[in-house]
Amino acid sequence: MVKTYADIILPLAVSDTYTFEVPADLKEKLVIGKRVEVQFGAKRVYAGIVEKIYETGPLGYKTKPVLNILDEEPIITTTHLALWQWIANYYMCTKGEVMAAGLPSAFKLSSETLLLLHPNFDDDFSLLNEREYLIAEALTIQNEITIEDAREILQLKQVFYVIKGLLEKGVILVKEELVERYKPKLSSYVALHETYQAEAALKDLFEQLEKRAAKQLAVLMAYMQLTGGKNKGWLKKKELLDKAGASSGHFKSLRDKGIFLEEKRQVSRMEEAAAAEEVIAYELSSTQQTAYDQLKAELLEKPVVTLFGVTSSGKTQLYMQLIEEYIQQGKQVLYLLPEIALTTQMIGRLRKVFGHQIGVYHSKFNDQERIEIWQKVLLGEYKVVVGARSGVFLPFVDLGLVIVDEEHDHSFKQYDPAPRYHARDTAIYLAHLFKAKTILGSATPSLETHFNATKLHKYGIVRLTERYGGVKLPVIDLVDMREAALQKEVRSLFSNYLLKAIQQALELGEQVILFQNRRGYAPYFICGDCSWIPYCVQCDVSLTYHKYAKELRCHYCGFRHPLYKKCDECGGTDLRIAGFGTEKIEEEIQLFLPGVKTGRLDLETARSKKGFEKTLEAFQDQKIQILIGTQMVTKGLDFDNVSLVGILSADQLLSFPDFRASERGFQLMMQVSGRAGRRQKQGRVIIQSNNMDYPVLQFMLNQDYPAFINSEMHSRLRLDYPPFYRMIQVDLKHKDKEKVNRASFYVAKTLRQMFGEQLLGPTVPLVSFIRRYHIRQILIKLGRSGKEIAQGKQWIRKVVEHLKQHKDFKSVIVQINVDPY
Ligand SMILES: [Zn+2]
Ligand SMILES: [Zn+2]
Repeated sequence: MVKTYADIILPLAVSDTYTFEVPADLKEKLVIGKRVEVQFGAKRVYAGIVEKIYETGPLGYKTKPVLNILDEEPIITTTHLALWQWIANYYMCTKGEVMAAGLPSAFKLSSETLLLLHPNFDDDFSLLNEREYLIAEALTIQNEITIEDAREILQLKQVFYVIKGLLEKGVILVKEELVERYKPKLSSYVALHETYQAEAALKDLFEQLEKRAAKQLAVLMAYMQLTGGKNKGWLKKKELLDKAGASSGHFKSLRDKGIFLEEKRQVSRMEEAAAAEEVIAYELSSTQQTAYDQLKAELLEKPVVTLFGVTSSGKTQLYMQLIEEYIQQGKQVLYLLPEIALTTQMIGRLRKVFGHQIGVYHSKFNDQERIEIWQKVLLGEYKVVVGARSGVFLPFVDLGLVIVDEEHDHSFKQYDPAPRYHARDTAIYLAHLFKAKTILGSATPSLETHFNATKLHKYGIVRLTERYGGVKLPVIDLVDMREAALQKEVRSLFSNYLLKAIQQALELGEQVILFQNRRGYAPYFICGDCSWIPYCVQCDVSLTYHKYAKELRCHYCGFRHPLYKKCDECGGTDLRIAGFGTEKIEEEIQLFLPGVKTGRLDLETARSKKGFEKTLEAFQDQKIQILIGTQMVTKGLDFDNVSLVGILSADQLLSFPDFRASERGFQLMMQVSGRAGRRQKQGRVIIQSNNMDYPVLQFMLNQDYPAFINSEMHSRLRLDYPPFYRMIQVDLKHKDKEKVNRASFYVAKTLRQMFGEQLLGPTVPLVSFIRRYHIRQILIKLGRSGKEIAQGKQWIRKVVEHLKQHKDFKSVIVQINVDPY
């Protein structure tokens, strides 16, 4: 007998897809890309995505049935399923892991999913059906329940439909860990029932209310006024009641009698902000126009074009022009930026031009907002989406162009968890699936992109070598801190030279940015007697001192410890703070330049979006004179009044034991320098370094990125590093140090039979103990040919599978990172 089966992707790392049988009554509505409810294992239920539907006889093994179909329409297209498949293959993970990363949480229900009452839900149960009511009621008593609990409460096996209804009505939320939550805006909307659009009925109603219910009549009158006599359409409830001078109670009787309808709607934050203001006419300079023409010509020839433009050359204006052209052709555009570059500043600029057609997507948005954006992209309502790396997962229907700005930025790479994808490379594949075009923009392109463009000629190239408005590149000064110290010209972390320059700038009413690399400068506690340093109990890193919280914290696992009163080692009480975090720099600035107004932008202050934007705004409005920051100050920010940028310790950027240290260091310095000197004035950059031997510093002095790339390429080639080779990193983790050692030697030995000298390790990484897990690392270099890469990946997969079956090593966690950065 012929049966229907469906292959379902579940958000799990175990296997790629699972086969379920499709009951006859669900057959007709089952479509690829819809979510279905299925049971997995003895008890758990999941919402999975239909990937394949086929008919055949019995499979020879038992399959469970699909329990229910959750969506009216597919939430994901076959094109995107193809992207998932590519990501899973390329980055060596399961499609379930891609699904987990790609879908907003409220789409990913499982029996363990935690449900919460929506903070804006106002106990108005009248719009809920009986089942929804039971769940909502349970949530007013308990703070959170699992979907499993919901099954118990309803005495039902299939509850996802009820949950989905509650989510859509804004009554509940799916609990998300680690995501900062905004309160989504919910508003009540009301409308006159259509019966009363007929004049006779309306007249009757009038007479009825006139006699007995003056306030209700006032509501009706207000409605007529607000609708301009049309007497139909939805209004905000609040607006109506304000106009009528009536209360919710008055309205309730109208609603209960069926005269008015009421609906809770989520007010789109995007829409509210989107009201397109006047469109700024922007003239491209002749240099920009030439570049623009070249860009268009190159796009005809090549699917991917790189735009190498120095800082402030006006790349954004070229993007905007191009986006407009694609929108006019009815196409969608994805515009990817590094997370921290997604500032209100940038988005406001785009909104002014693209109004309602633009959506913004990144990790700081809550789930409801993400689903809203998801739907609008799927329906083609959003023509442009500006997003951080997860933007590549949005369900575009007619994508025409992808722009990856600051393509060199390593926040495009996801480190943890799997899929460990690079959004730039994924975006190029996404564009390829739509036969769309990709633009990679940067002032300091990655070596990979540079190589693909200039050596392999895979990508077209357009250059913008002039800053917009003829502004000159800043003047760069190098300060040898060792020499300065000998001359007694150093005060703590500052050379007198830099301090004097800061003072001069401030006297002229100009602003200053001070950049301190985040790595290695976190302040920590140290015993003045025996040099003991408090360490995290779960990781092999020292604890960081947090002045405002008055405690020590681990930046790897979040472990906290109150401040020590005395040394754990010798009992001494002379505990000091060492290291220079941004807080400490702020303190010192106050010491040397009393009364100056400072602000900080670092991981700590950026944790809340508000804090981040407040600081930026204050700096913009010149309420802050000196902005002290880490990596955050380098991107997406335009300030008119900054004349000086100080880089406090360049050697810290460059001494990191990583083959990309020079590339990253140069890119960072170049980006942060780009903040100096905008409109009228040439800016100034002062770079301090304790070690002047790094060749990068000389290239930086001349701001000669091409020369730097040339020299760096030679050393990469000599050492068999990317872009000439591909790398795959295999991490093994276990709580038992001895076991992970043995397992890593075992894996390395087996793989070495295939990869020989191209395998490095196992090594103990710089931080080799995190969250009580010991880590060992194996690095494999592969040639660039597709065949060699595919073969190599297959070997690695086999060995990992083998390890998973090995009786001693089953419990060892293996993480594969393709193109680790
Ligand atoms: Zn001590
Ligand atoms: Zn820790």
